[in-house]
Amino acid sequence: MAETFDAVIVGGGAAGLMCALTAGQRGRRVLVIEHANKVGKKILMSGGGRCNFTNTGTTPANYLSANPHFCKSALARYTPWDFIAMVERHRIAYHEKELGQLFCDESSKLIVKMLVDECMAAGVRINTGCSIERIVRGEGDSGFRVHTTQGAVSSASLVVASGGLSIPSMGASGFGYELARGYGHTVLPTRAGLVPLTLSGKHQERLQDLSGVALPVTASCNGRSFSNQLLITHRGVSGPSILQISSYWQPGDDLRLDLLPGRDAMDWLLTQQRERPAAELKTVLGDAMPKRFAQRLCELWLSNKPMKQYNAPELKQLAATLSAWPLVASGTEGYRTAEVTLGGVDTDEVSSSTMMSKRVPGLYFIGEVIDVTGWLGGYNFQWAWASGHAAGVAV
Ligand SMILES: Cc1cc2nc3c(=O)[nH]c(=O)nc-3n(C[C@H](O)[C@H](O)[C@H](O)COP(=O)(O)OP(=O)(O)OC[C@H]3O[C@@H](n4cnc5c(N)ncnc54)[C@H](O)[C@@H]3O)c2cc1C
Repeated sequence: MAETFDAVIVGGGAAGLMCALTAGQRGRRVLVIEHANKVGKKILMSGGGRCNFTNTGTTPANYLSANPHFCKSALARYTPWDFIAMVERHRIAYHEKELGQLFCDESSKLIVKMLVDECMAAGVRINTGCSIERIVRGEGDSGFRVHTTQGAVSSASLVVASGGLSIPSMGASGFGYELARGYGHTVLPTRAGLVPLTLSGKHQERLQDLSGVALPVTASCNGRSFSNQLLITHRGVSGPSILQISSYWQPGDDLRLDLLPGRDAMDWLLTQQRERPAAELKTVLGDAMPKRFAQRLCELWLSNKPMKQYNAPELKQLAATLSAWPLVASGTEGYRTAEVTLGGVDTDEVSSSTMMSKRVPGLYFIGEVIDVTGWLGGYNFQWAWASGHAAGVAV
């Protein structure tokens, strides 16, 4: 006889572990199946090893989804403060970096340990190095029989928490999408999000040797803007402002950078002209941004001369370029370096309160596999915790 569980959770990542501990605490018999050799690998590598585990400013507006309302219920029922309470109960020291982003003082390992300890205390079984061979639905729509490399089990509920496609070397797989399709679910097109952008041809050549230079910008695309650092890389551009806008950008889209963020470019230029008439534009700009970048701008995109020699139309043109400099990206670095996967299981066919499939009773989808993707800054983990919790109280 196959062992019987109330819930089998496929994927021991952020959402899967949260779902498991929540269901376990309710006395449910829970099995987590993880194909990697250990759970929570992405948590371990997150936030530069310090895990940006939530954002205290989380609202539904911080997420991309074909249905922006879908995430509301779960986020309202499991808030950043609920997760912070668990972190504090486990005496994990943390700090706020910027904009409500909470990081561990020491290591992401503490977050994984906390989740696993909670699972163990709740009697959850975790099978690592375990792969699914096949899943068969029980007779009369009742439950699932899950055949794995470590034997077969039966379960009333099956929770898909297998994440997205980013960082395949960390265990990412298309398993959840294939399973969803197999059960008749629509999977919205997936693509890499929170990912560096690549430049090619002359666009790359013009910036390549400035690799390592960083500057504050406001990046805008398709009606969205993010103000933060931009980092020039060997292949293109990265940094928080670029990662954020990458989720809203697709090849061919117009992407603009305000190189004087927070300032009115025309006012600033007029002030410089009045106060430093003999200084050249590249010198003046070099005080507002990295000198090498200012010099390159003046060589290739702007005319350089003493400030007093610019007439009004020329200043207007300069201001327009500096506040909406076109960045011609050729693509993204793809899933190899992306933090998240956009798109996924269509939310129209999933209950927003329980995460249960509207097509297959007992089948649940949580975390990144669903078409809900957060901004950079702890929002993706908060979605994993909230959706995992929503299913954990339902299975
Ligand atoms: C480098 C990096 C840094 C990040 N930093 C942050 C951050 O600081 N803050 C933040 O909020 N978000 C961050 N993210 C995003 C965040 O890690 C994810 O959004 C989050 O982990 C998604 O949770 P999940 O449980 O849905 O998926 P995952 O955490 O990816 O878990 C999925 C699990 O399922 C397993 N799995 C996959 N297929 C199968 C299968 N067929 N059988 C069994 N198991 C399977 C995987 O091995 C994995 O353990 C980062 C992502 C990356 C890549």
